Amino acid sequence: MPECTNCGTQVGESANFCPNCGKPQNPTAQNRLDQKIEKRASQQASQQAGSSQSTSQRSQRDELIERAGYAFGFIFVVSAVSVLPSPGGVFTLLGGLLLFPPVRQLSARVFGSPLKAEFNAAVAVVLMLLGTAIHYIL
Ligand SMILES: [Zn+2]
Repeated sequence: MPECTNCGTQVGESANFCPNCGKPQNPTAQNRLDQKIEKRASQQASQQAGSSQSTSQRSQRDELIERAGYAFGFIFVVSAVSVLPSPGGVFTLLGGLLLFPPVRQLSARVFGSPLKAEFNAAVAVVLMLLGTAIHYIL
């Protein structure tokens, strides 16, 4: 009866692995084990790659929204200030301020979670249109 090369436990002639320590008892078993480990490692690696990819995509979108928020917020505020002290400018100014990402972050404190960027932008555009209309009507 052969003995395990690792722990000395007697193993059967046909045993591929030691029943005590699990060490492969022949090159074929060793190969199979290696392949299994390699497969699992590559599966984990691809899973990790997939999850980190989706995270980076999400943050990329957030970054884009943030940049757009600053850009449009700035344009709104500048155009609002140029028509002040017209009451229409006040609305446009509010809309512009709403677009700034830090202001949007503040909405998270009020409502529990930050307002959706789409909703935020829609409100800002409505305020801007309202401001423009008031400016030209009055
Ligand atoms: Zn053993």
